[in-house]
Amino acid sequence: MIGDAAGMITPLCGNGMSMALHGSKLAAEHIHAYLQGNISRTEMEEQYAKQWKLHFAGRLKTGRIIQSLFGKNYLSNFFISTIKPFPRIVSFLIKQTHGKPF
Ligand SMILES: Cc1cc2nc3c(=O)[nH]c(=O)nc-3n(C[C@H](O)[C@H](O)[C@H](O)COP(=O)(O)OP(=O)(O)OC[C@H]3O[C@@H](n4cnc5c(N)ncnc54)[C@H](O)[C@@H]3O)c2cc1C
Repeated sequence: MIGDAAGMITPLCGNGMSMALHGSKLAAEHIHAYLQGNISRTEMEEQYAKQWKLHFAGRLKTGRIIQSLFGKNYLSNFFISTIKPFPRIVSFLIKQTHGKPF
């Protein structure tokens, strides 16, 4: 599966369109190798699933953890006031959910 069907990032983290495009690029690479006769269908599916997990599983998990810190007023305020003085931590957290350009 690709895009939202493979896994949806939490709304707070966003970037779902980019993830769908990135996932389809990964899939296309493996589909191409399969259609060229270089790998079997099973290899194509396994390699794509492995790549997908490598690129997205951690981002989705981090997104879920961050999202869980929002919703309740006291928890949201505590989290924001704790990390606000540390812009490097904020950038780090954003990087954990946004991945690298592809
Ligand atoms: C309200 C909202 C706001 C969002 N805002 C942002 C944003 O600002 N930035 C961002 O990056 N992401 C945003 N997203 C997330 C983003 O839209 C999705 O992550 C992204 O579109 C996923 O792409 P996709 O190709 O997987 O799925 P989709 O874009 O949903 O495409 C799936 C397509 O398949 C079609 N389809 C479904 N079933 C069938 C069928 N049986 N046969 C044929 N066709 C079918 C659908 O009609 C649809 O056109 C938002 C999502 C929502 C709901």
